[in-house]
Amino acid sequence: MNLETKVQLLTGVGPKTVQKLERLGINSVRDLLFNWPRTWQDFSSPRDISSLRINDEAIIKAKIKSVKEIRTRNRWMSIIEANLVDDKNYEIKAIWFNQTFLKSVLRVDDEWLFLGKIGWDFKAKQKTLAVSQMEKEAVILPVYSETPGITSKFLRKLIKPILSEIDAIIDDYLPDEIRGFLLDLRTTLKYIHFPNSNESLAKAKNRLAFDELFLIALRFLTIKKELQQNVAPPMQIDEKVLQNFTKKLPFKLTDAQRKVAWEIIQDLAKNVPMNRLLEGDVGSGKTVVAAMAVLVAAKNNLQTVWLAPTEILANQHYQNIKPLIHLVGVSTGLYTSANKIADTQKDDLIIGTHAVLQKNVSFPNLGLIIIDEQHRFGVKQRAHLRKPILTSTFRQAVSMEKVTIPHLLSMTATPIPRTLALALYGDLDLSIIDQMPAGRQTIITKIINEKNRQKTYDFIRSEIKNGRQAFVICPLIETGEVTTGKLFDTDRKSVMEEYKKLSEQIFPEFKIGFLHGKMKSKEKEAVMNSFHERELSILVSTAVVEVGIDVPNATVMMIESADRFGLAQLHQFRGRVGRGKHQSYCFLLSDLRSEKSAQRLKAMEDCFDGFKLAQIDLELRGSGEVVGLKQSGLDNLKMASLSDTILIGEARAAAQKIVEDGIEKYPLLCAKLKEFEIEKHLE
Ligand code: ADP
Ligand code: MG
Repeated sequence: MNLETKVQLLTGVGPKTVQKLERLGINSVRDLLFNWPRTWQDFSSPRDISSLRINDEAIIKAKIKSVKEIRTRNRWMSIIEANLVDDKNYEIKAIWFNQTFLKSVLRVDDEWLFLGKIGWDFKAKQKTLAVSQMEKEAVILPVYSETPGITSKFLRKLIKPILSEIDAIIDDYLPDEIRGFLLDLRTTLKYIHFPNSNESLAKAKNRLAFDELFLIALRFLTIKKELQQNVAPPMQIDEKVLQNFTKKLPFKLTDAQRKVAWEIIQDLAKNVPMNRLLEGDVGSGKTVVAAMAVLVAAKNNLQTVWLAPTEILANQHYQNIKPLIHLVGVSTGLYTSANKIADTQKDDLIIGTHAVLQKNVSFPNLGLIIIDEQHRFGVKQRAHLRKPILTSTFRQAVSMEKVTIPHLLSMTATPIPRTLALALYGDLDLSIIDQMPAGRQTIITKIINEKNRQKTYDFIRSEIKNGRQAFVICPLIETGEVTTGKLFDTDRKSVMEEYKKLSEQIFPEFKIGFLHGKMKSKEKEAVMNSFHERELSILVSTAVVEVGIDVPNATVMMIESADRFGLAQLHQFRGRVGRGKHQSYCFLLSDLRSEKSAQRLKAMEDCFDGFKLAQIDLELRGSGEVVGLKQSGLDNLKMASLSDTILIGEARAAAQKIVEDGIEKYPLLCAKLKEFEIEKHLE
């Protein structure tokens, strides 16, 4: 037997079973071993009968006091009842249906561990236990994902004999010097399926959690190393030119902006391709930092492509950045599917969307790529971004051994704590702007329940009468949209319904527009423009406004069904207002159905630091909501938790060691990494 042995060769597995196992993704011995239990039945720590509540699923340790069999009147069902007592002298009535054979097993005075569901017997006024399983020993049993015909009990039977031969089947892919105090793989596999104590189960879980994070880090770092085998054009840095630029700005750079700008510029001076992520809260001033990199490139006669995720943002950047760097002699073009006001052969800076990546677009001197709001582009897209540009641009420039590629700067406003960012974007170096420009106003944030909805509308009316504008954000485009699998998702508001209500009933006197992702980009652009030009007073929108839209005259951000959004996202919505000189407001509409959503939204009222909010969300909601997770392959961690920053750090350090040493020296690890990539569909 080895890892590749097919399940049909195992005892007790016929052709029908093979098919059923296939449904669980189990084809081989390897699949069986690495199919972790979903949970464990812990017969080693039974509960007191007195602590049990109706509907609990619980394990108790008790002695049998008496047993009787009851036949129902029509005799189609038999019930066995036993009175049980635990060592604290509490009693409960255990019940079995249609298991007459148990009569001979259940002997008075015998002690057992019983697993079952707690109910209530109204006549006897007594708790009952509908027993589903009983054990003599204080074992911890694995519970697997099941499918009709494949029970956990059956899977246990299949795995047990494999584990007793484990030494001949598998070697540890972790080198000893990395493994350190972690369990070895063989013991880990034994304990994860059949732990002899909770302590050994915890150790096995810890080892597997480490492995998950380690393999992800290893994958990122090998990608990074491969990239660094290439060369990028090293740039001359002229500090005078940069000073001249910053002097022309209407503000002083923050210390944080200075620091990250310097990190970026130092990278540009090297002939190793930069691969850097610039993280900074909404409004922290990333644009001007990136503009400094553009300037450096331009002064070296190298072009920059600046990619925005949407047409609207590309236009907006074009409007903002062009005049800014025109002052220092940098020419800017725009290249989107709708607008092609760029000379791709001559312009120093080309701001664009995906349209830039088309095969027939080429840049003779590309030296730098900037990706704005990079979470909108997946890992895969990001990894391949350089390729199409590279092939069209550098076809002739490719030297014999090394390929020349542009430097890359990614930017994101998603505030992700540093360790997590390293796990998510581990192929990138990280620069963080952790400081806001001075004098930013605090946006007054309030949770609003249904009762106060009308008052909120009145307030919005008075703001608009004063010449201001408002956003209304809804989670859905249309009501009845099935996104949760629930048939009636009545508690989530939709753009179309709110738009209708606001324009017909609430604010018939104002001009209102709507925006959502299903509209054509021309339509979206037209709506955004009229909001920007103040032709519209209210914009009802889905999350598409989340990223970067700048309307300084807007002072109200009203978010419907606010508890349906992650805190990082709410914080980004909030960042859409307060961009001008007027006091601004953020209203979170929610009836706070759960304690958790109350806690989360309360955090929005008091906290204005995106990094802190992201951390709170991570703790309260788990990692599921972290933006960018889906694209990173980190959304299906089975053992590791993204809030375990210590383990993330350790795994990354270990991966770093291996990559520096040369991963090719570790063939078992190379094989595991390949297998892992296929499994996670990362490429
Ligand atoms: P983001 O990081 O969200 O992309 P922007 O770069 O768009 O933020 O900057 C937001 C606003 O802050 C812009 O209007 C910009 O001109 C301004 N700004 C940037 N840096 C500073 C600074 N150091 N002091 C004052 N205002 C600044
Ligand atoms: Mg920005």
